Amino acid sequence: MKVLENTELAQFTTIKIGGKADKVCIPSTTSELVNLLDELSSKNEHWSIIGGGSNILISSHGIPGTVICTTSLNWIENLGPDLISAGAGVRLPRLSAYAAKSSLSGMEFFEGIPGTVGGAIIMNAGAHGSSTSQIMETVSVLNLNSGKIEILTPKDINFGYRLSNINPNEKIILEAKFRLVSDTETAIKRRMKEFNFARRSSQPIKDPSAGCTFRNPLELNTPAGKLLDSIGAKNWSIGSANVSSMHANFIINGGNAMSHDVCKLMSKMQETVYQKYNVLLKPEIKPLGVFTKEEAIIWTNADQTEGNSFIITR
Ligand SMILES: Cc1cc2nc3c(=O)[nH]c(=O)nc-3n(C[C@H](O)[C@H](O)[C@H](O)COP(=O)(O)OP(=O)(O)OC[C@H]3O[C@@H](n4cnc5c(N)ncnc54)[C@H](O)[C@@H]3O)c2cc1C
Repeated sequence: MKVLENTELAQFTTIKIGGKADKVCIPSTTSELVNLLDELSSKNEHWSIIGGGSNILISSHGIPGTVICTTSLNWIENLGPDLISAGAGVRLPRLSAYAAKSSLSGMEFFEGIPGTVGGAIIMNAGAHGSSTSQIMETVSVLNLNSGKIEILTPKDINFGYRLSNINPNEKIILEAKFRLVSDTETAIKRRMKEFNFARRSSQPIKDPSAGCTFRNPLELNTPAGKLLDSIGAKNWSIGSANVSSMHANFIINGGNAMSHDVCKLMSKMQETVYQKYNVLLKPEIKPLGVFTKEEAIIWTNADQTEGNSFIITR
């Protein structure tokens, strides 16, 4: 297992923000991960877990204790005939490319989502009308309360729009199996290309971001990006954190943005939409690390604290 001491966490996130952790542990086998969690729990040490870091805002004040990064749990196995198994840390675009090569369809929508299998199940990642819950057959998790490995099906998980009932503080995703259908490699790759083109023409994929900032509000039929665009949020900026000029639901790190810049900007976006539409946007980005009460208000206001691993001070 790779262990890094006193390490900057910005490099482990797609938005390139995050202070230091005392330790970053990168296990390369499931048993290394299970033993590590056992050791940290027995010592009562604070820890957090990340995958691709593509849906999180890590505090610029850092995270106390150990951060576990799953990206070396990266094996893929074709169990045949239509079943693929993947470790929690496998990157989604790699997995969809593997499925295409195996003439298996269903994962085309993973193309362009820079997360991992673990993060995709926690968030029920989706795009182009498909979501992780539709292709996941089973997921293997370590239940931290019982210390046992459990095999869960979608029915056990209660998937919703960009959410699951798996709380990363209680259950750790080890690996998952996906049920796909046969198709030709050419047809699968053509769909991936189309999805890629649609994404490139609507999202700032080359800029450092954490993806969509807010979930689409279920009470309105209008996506969060459209609401934000209508209040003129594009190009708003605080410090080096900017709302993308291409998509109003993306916050871009313009160079040296800090987590408090992002929080202030999110707060302004949330407040302005609330004033105009009486709808409180719920953050899709999850906070990790130490935040002040004022910064955390974006999540606490929207009742989005459960399953987050953040510490609120003052
Ligand atoms: C440019 C861009 C485009 C994006 N497009 C989309 C899109 O189209 N659709 C979409 O749904 N999302 C999209 N996202 C958001 C993001 O990629 C997904 O939510 C992804 O599934 C997150 O996976 P991750 O591994 O990066 O999770 P992380 O951000 O690392 O973590 C997210 C949460 O999962 C937990 N977690 C991670 N791994 C585990 C594990 N093994 N066990 C338990 N808990 C774990 C973390 O603690 C955290 O709470 C986009 C992001 C970017 C930057």
